[in-house]
Amino acid sequence: MRYSYRLKDDNINIEKILKILESKNYIYDNENPELVFVFGGDGTVLGAVQDYIDKVDDIIFIGINHGNLGFYTDFIQDDIKNILNLIENNEYDISNLPLVEYHITNNQNIYKGYALNEISLISLDRTMIMEIYINDFLFEKFRGTGIAVSTPSGSTAYNKSLGGAVVDINIPSIQLTEIASINNKVYTTLGSPIILGKNINLKMIPVKNNDLVFNVDNRHLILKENVIIETKVSDKCVKLLTQKNRSFFKRVQKAFIGDVND
Ligand code: NAD
Repeated sequence: MRYSYRLKDDNINIEKILKILESKNYIYDNENPELVFVFGGDGTVLGAVQDYIDKVDDIIFIGINHGNLGFYTDFIQDDIKNILNLIENNEYDISNLPLVEYHITNNQNIYKGYALNEISLISLDRTMIMEIYINDFLFEKFRGTGIAVSTPSGSTAYNKSLGGAVVDINIPSIQLTEIASINNKVYTTLGSPIILGKNINLKMIPVKNNDLVFNVDNRHLILKENVIIETKVSDKCVKLLTQKNRSFFKRVQKAFIGDVND
């Protein structure tokens, strides 16, 4: 099996782990891995997915954390031999996590890509004024700080802080949430999140020419004037290796609610 790995920091004893992988005949291949071991938190998994975004169809990611399990990290570091045994014996599940796809034209430039959690557009200083089209239909004119477009697996991240709904990871969809919209007698937006299904094109055209920060998971770039941003549910998915029968809602409960007594 060809593998690669990503590390959050240097505190991880990777040499020991690599020796174990070698002893099991895993072959290091940073260019074309079949399996990417990610040692770190959810943010490290987001970074690893971006590193391999053009090859995600052929890769299985496996998130391994120190102590706290995250939304993309289902194993703890001391488990490495145990993890390899689970792989050897096919005792695992694969979650297929839908991505959000974006296409931006900015004057002569085109930026395309995918996000596992979300994309967001934020105006740092002036009020953002932006036309929002659903399948070329002008749905609303947004005024405020920004908007986020999240995936189902990203629905528990920034989206949740913005008042968005938690979405089952098995529903291929994107969710539009507002960041501090201005709603008064003059300006009005829907004021609630909207969840859109496959094949719906969500287009955003800023009306005023102020600089915007465009975030893709934990990376960003600055967009200047004359921008058109289009997003939709991607056909691509990220394959994440998880423990068998580990329910998404159990994870949500553990992270946000804690134990529930009868
Ligand atoms: P990180 O690992 O430090 O993540 C930051 C926090 O977000 C951690 O507690 C992590 O567990 C949690 N997180 C990340 N993805 C999650 C998910 N899908 N579901 C539930 N929790 C999740 O790494 P980072 O690089 O800072 O992470 C980037 C992400 O942080 C962004 O994609 C965005 O979703 C999130 N974020 C949240 C806010 C907010 O809630 N106000 C603001 C900015 C960014």
